[in-house]
Amino acid sequence: MFDNTLEYGILGMARSGIAAARLIKDLGGKVFLSELRGSEQVKDAGELQQQFDCEFGGHTDRLYHCDRWIVSPGIPLDSPIILAGKKRNIPMISEIELGYQVKAQDSKIIAVTGSNGKSTVASLIDHLLKNNGYRSILAGNIGAAFCSFPIHKPGYDFIVLEISSFQLDLIDTFRPNVAVLLNITPDHMNRYAGFNDYINSKFRIFENQRPEDTAVICLDSEQVAERQNRIPARLRRYSLHLKAPDCDAWMQEGEIRLGIRHRLPVKDLKIMGPHNYANVMAALLAADALTNDIANLIDAARAFMPLTHRLEFVADINGVLFFNDSKATNTDSVRSALLSFDKPIRIIMGGSDKGEDFSVLTELLKQKTKKVYVTGDTAPQMEKLWKDQMDLEHVPDFEDCIRKAWQDSQTGDIVVLSPACASFDRFRNFEHRGDVFKSIVEKMANEV
Ligand code: ADP
Repeated sequence: MFDNTLEYGILGMARSGIAAARLIKDLGGKVFLSELRGSEQVKDAGELQQQFDCEFGGHTDRLYHCDRWIVSPGIPLDSPIILAGKKRNIPMISEIELGYQVKAQDSKIIAVTGSNGKSTVASLIDHLLKNNGYRSILAGNIGAAFCSFPIHKPGYDFIVLEISSFQLDLIDTFRPNVAVLLNITPDHMNRYAGFNDYINSKFRIFENQRPEDTAVICLDSEQVAERQNRIPARLRRYSLHLKAPDCDAWMQEGEIRLGIRHRLPVKDLKIMGPHNYANVMAALLAADALTNDIANLIDAARAFMPLTHRLEFVADINGVLFFNDSKATNTDSVRSALLSFDKPIRIIMGGSDKGEDFSVLTELLKQKTKKVYVTGDTAPQMEKLWKDQMDLEHVPDFEDCIRKAWQDSQTGDIVVLSPACASFDRFRNFEHRGDVFKSIVEKMANEV
């Protein structure tokens, strides 16, 4: 548990590390911050130097004098500094674990993980709770860091956390009242030794749960369903395909069913696609587990809008519809995009490589696209893989690529940016890529 007589080494001066440092200082503990990047590359470095004991441009032996380390999720666990710390038996935790150790007893935690849908489901749970009068905060991978809120003080009914596998890698006692695991498909294969390591990392969300806690899982995810016996908490399960009695929520005749009494027609929702219907089920089951108020939660679900960069409608240019799905950084999220439209689309793909096998999309792309446009670092790889199997064009420049898709379009066509790749080849992050896409589409709209 948190001990303010210790000195904490903070590895990585990004959002979560800085939030952890501030919280520890507020609680009377001592911190030392260490960052691989030079101070010129760290935002507000000067201010941080005035407030804390810091080092920039590399990790030195000074870190070994700290009693515990709080490791940024961006630092690979096989990096030299982590291996050196392990050799010295320095306990290491993530900022999520720290937050859990210091949070006030009365605030309950709902934690959401999975390969895809985390932000949508965490935001939706927070929306359902707030709209029903609960004091809820949304934190973790989305918005502000867990430790940036005054979580050590009472006052929050619920803390909804979006959690990545990197943050789960370094938990110790973290025990969410409700843990949601949405799906597991290959992602971040450049960080894990293999798929099994990644799966095990995701399952750590349940590790400290007890039978009185709740685990919400999706039975459509093979990797999750076949390991459900490992979960110690009470299970609440959902599926787009299976029905009761296996499931607490399922789809039937265009409606989400929640038990035998409650129904939500999907045409009432503002988010589209089967994956989003599954997300709604996950969020409703999670929020209901702690509030027991399903009818009011269902009412609140209807008003939830899609998040930006996730199948976000951008513009209708003379009957050609443009959607921004820049957050689709892996193949499974592209699969969701392809399944969300009732006719074949023009899809723009490519970006920086995360080591995924793109061939898993081949059949669906053949069925669900009019034409594939590839751009960015992975474009040559995608072109080689698909050029003989479908209509495909490689357009190296991002703007030219969008314009080509537009030029080829007729009224009624749909153009979707859904890259299946990270964005760091040409953009700061997926938000930047999505914003550039939207500004190009808006520019095109003004040209007609
Ligand atoms: P995450 O936070 O896990 O990255 P997001 O909600 O930001 O998830 O969505 C990321 C991408 O995955 C988007 O392209 C979105 O359309 C898609 N997506 C959302 N929910 C799911 C789901 N349940 N299964 C598969 N893909 C999904």
